[in-house]
Amino acid sequence: MKSTQLAQITRTDDSTGAISNPIYLSTAYSHPKLGQSTGFDYTRTKNPTRSTFEEAFAKLEGGIQSYATSSGMASIQLICNLFKPGDEVLVSFDLYGGTFRLFDFYERQYNITFKYVHFENFEDVEAAVTPQTRAFFIEPISNPLMIHIDLDAYYRLAQAHNILTIIDNTFLTPYLSTPLKDGADIVLHSATKYIGGHNDVLAGVVTVKDAELVESLSAFHNMIGATLSPIDSYLLLRGLKTLHLRMERSERNAKQLIDVLQSSPAIQEVLYSGHTGMLSLRLNKQYDVGRLLEHIKVCIFAESLGGTESFITFPYTQTHVDMPDDEKDKRGIDQQLIRLSIGIEDFDDIKDDLIQALEKSKLEVTP
Ligand SMILES: *Cc1c(COP(=O)(O)O)cnc(C)c1O
Repeated sequence: MKSTQLAQITRTDDSTGAISNPIYLSTAYSHPKLGQSTGFDYTRTKNPTRSTFEEAFAKLEGGIQSYATSSGMASIQLICNLFKPGDEVLVSFDLYGGTFRLFDFYERQYNITFKYVHFENFEDVEAAVTPQTRAFFIEPISNPLMIHIDLDAYYRLAQAHNILTIIDNTFLTPYLSTPLKDGADIVLHSATKYIGGHNDVLAGVVTVKDAELVESLSAFHNMIGATLSPIDSYLLLRGLKTLHLRMERSERNAKQLIDVLQSSPAIQEVLYSGHTGMLSLRLNKQYDVGRLLEHIKVCIFAESLGGTESFITFPYTQTHVDMPDDEKDKRGIDQQLIRLSIGIEDFDDIKDDLIQALEKSKLEVTP
């Protein structure tokens, strides 16, 4: 993706030459006469600002249609409408907690089976495929353990068994990966994260490259109505214009930070996929996460990722709070684990902040 291309595909207002996209708040659009339309009639169905974002995003992804939704979860729910009772979906074991919660509801309410498998182990997945398997739902970088999964073998396996490959690409974004071009059927993002990038918009986006999926998803998107508002669509367009710069900077900051943290006495384990600004840290037993969070000044204790500011999240009580304890145990989500979304601040500011907070997080040993 070239930044010059990005500027072009997000600039569409030829009538005025506006550099920045207009925000069309109108919910209704007048028709010239009976049987004629401007292409717009009612904003749930189609809105000019949303369409501009969707068209730009579909181009970035190598798809034919994108759907902007009111949240990342609304994107996943939109996709869930493709499943029928009796269908099985094989899902990344190490999954975003909100997705786990939604799938658990769908399983109980609609009798769709979600089987959690280790996509880092191809044989496990292959053995789990049955004639009922309708889809793979994969996070290519697992959360919060940051394991990077090689997807190529799964595209082939899916094609051989007529299975849909659904990729939650939130962590990577089209700047680092475009799964539709490689063989995926459906790609989704929580655009609340890197795409919006400034912690000021809740949004999701689903992209597909197949006409049949376009037909179903267009109907569901309009029918359910969790479509993205014009102002939020504008914010995503604006986010896209700096995506490449933000991704580069946060990835570079994260990689430099890992070099420093690996030698810290406070750190038992650094978990990093090799990509993005996302990493997790497991603190040694003598260090206390609660204390660390009290002492950070530049980094922020908050529950999100992919924004301009560096965030620290405690998966145990935040992103994964609804996961039963035994499931958390299996995934290594314990009370020493924190997840960091490294922002675009000056590297030294982030580093100095973490070093001082880690030092202060050491528990006193009682003799
Ligand atoms: C945040 C997130 C979601 C959910 O998106 P919302 O915009 O919060 O609804 C889904 N998947 C991943 C990987 C996420 O990080």
